[in-house]
Amino acid sequence: MITRRNLLTRLGLLGGLGVTVNAMQLLGLNGAARAAELPPLPPGRGLHVVVLGAGITGLVAAYELEQAGYRVTLLEARDRVGGRAWTIRDGDRIEMVGEATQTAKFSDGIYMNAGPARIPSFHTGLLGYCDKFGVPLEVEVNSSRSAFIMGKDGTKIRQRVAVNDMRGHIAELLAKALNQGSLDQAISPADKARLLPFLRMYGDLAADGSFKGSERSGMTAFPGAGVTFAANGTALPLEQLLANEQLPMTLFDDALYMQATMVEPVGGMDRIHAGFDRNLRAPAIRGAEVTRIRHSAKGVDVVWRDKRSGAVRTVAADYMVCTIPFAVLKDIDADFAPATKRAIAGIRYDYSNKIAFEAPRFWEKEQIYGGISFVGGPTSLVWYPSAGLHTARGMLLACYGSGPDAAVFEKRPLPEQIEFARGVVERLHPGHGSDLVNGIVVNWHKVPYSLGPWPDFSDGKARGFEDPIDTPDFRRLLDPDGRVYFASAALSQTPGWQEGGIASARTQIAKLAARAAAEHPAA
Ligand SMILES: Cc1cc2nc3c(=O)[nH]c(=O)nc-3n(C[C@H](O)[C@H](O)[C@H](O)COP(=O)(O)OP(=O)(O)OC[C@H]3O[C@@H](n4cnc5c(N)ncnc54)[C@H](O)[C@@H]3O)c2cc1C
Repeated sequence: MITRRNLLTRLGLLGGLGVTVNAMQLLGLNGAARAAELPPLPPGRGLHVVVLGAGITGLVAAYELEQAGYRVTLLEARDRVGGRAWTIRDGDRIEMVGEATQTAKFSDGIYMNAGPARIPSFHTGLLGYCDKFGVPLEVEVNSSRSAFIMGKDGTKIRQRVAVNDMRGHIAELLAKALNQGSLDQAISPADKARLLPFLRMYGDLAADGSFKGSERSGMTAFPGAGVTFAANGTALPLEQLLANEQLPMTLFDDALYMQATMVEPVGGMDRIHAGFDRNLRAPAIRGAEVTRIRHSAKGVDVVWRDKRSGAVRTVAADYMVCTIPFAVLKDIDADFAPATKRAIAGIRYDYSNKIAFEAPRFWEKEQIYGGISFVGGPTSLVWYPSAGLHTARGMLLACYGSGPDAAVFEKRPLPEQIEFARGVVERLHPGHGSDLVNGIVVNWHKVPYSLGPWPDFSDGKARGFEDPIDTPDFRRLLDPDGRVYFASAALSQTPGWQEGGIASARTQIAKLAARAAAEHPAA
């Protein structure tokens, strides 16, 4: 049975949660984004903070601390900033623990957002930085009624048919029940008199209250010149709709986080992180792998290894903001209190897989412009690109699955994962499986310096997005360990969203700055 809770959970398994924007909000983007400024921090007066990790959380911490007058050293193990916001372009190498290195082969302008790919309108923190750093945005079509739901037996239904025919059948049934007086205990005569005409409109019912099909579900013949009349299809029988296991996914874009229209940075999600880096006085030190963390008499000492030269260096600072994912941090030599270490080790990370191909845009010939087809199984969906409409080729995301199914799927050899995803696309778009070339796989649990897409706080139980995260380990890590402040999307109520990292960074640096002001009063 699909309850609200497990629909939300299923949506969650698709990946980072979402939100949306209606067209008006999009037009007013700048105004909305500007609303999300950080309240001023007490001045840093040159105190030194070392920030570990240059994902969105570390970048926000570093940028805002610099703005407040702190001296910041930002250490990043990878040779790029952005962390999980990873845009893969032609020639990029995909290294995963226990797997052969893959090299992306994409034509000009084609890229894959292996991590975050969409931004909802209410993530005004992130949108505010896009505004501040001049990062151009475009519409991300998160939901298209031209896309499909595909059942286990391979039966495909266009989403517009599924949505409108279900609505028609439900309206017809309800109208029948009202007319037969079955609901007279539940509704007043006045409301019944208002509801019946509404149901006729809502379900596009015939004058006799029956549902025979609707133009909303598409046409079998389109209106033409002269007396070439349009014709509607007949309604899909209710049992056929109900038999499609993906039917509940037609509610996908009703979820606040998965609204139909969202935004994406033009050219790739990492454009935002590059914007931060450009605006830092001391840009991130790349290839700087932190190996040891120690408290000192005056602050903290961090040992890091320069991956290019092999040289080992130490940074001594007054305070630290540590944004390294806990799955990684638990194996770094640190003198944290035992309770802190236990809390770090106690946070488990989820699984999530994405598989991308380059292909000629055959889906546009089937009138699909952006949006998602839901296919179930371990690959879960097929996501069509919003960028580059009507160009020759594009990136098709043929798998984005998370949770327990993803944990099993990622154990398959990479070529097998690719072929499985191709097979699903072939069933969905017959004849086009062979159009897919240069498949690449990202199994997030195997990605070094991440070791998972986001934490899994489910404790083995089904968890809806709206359930608060409040475990003892989570609470422990909100407090500093000595002069080390932890910040991460994982320490927010939206661990699957960049906005969570921004919120966490801002909260933790505000605590750090208040303490620094108390410990280092102005002379
Ligand atoms: C598949 C997927 C889809 C997602 N979809 C969306 C979406 O559509 N929209 C959205 O807003 N969010 C989405 N998210 C969530 C978003 O990516 C994260 O919430 C956010 O990027 C986390 O930022 P962070 O800075 O907290 O962590 P990270 O980005 O992981 O940053 C941590 C940094 O620490 C560095 N590091 C690790 N170890 C060391 C070390 N030893 N020394 C130095 N540095 C180290 C890492 O390299 C990394 O740069 C998605 C995530 C995934 C994985």
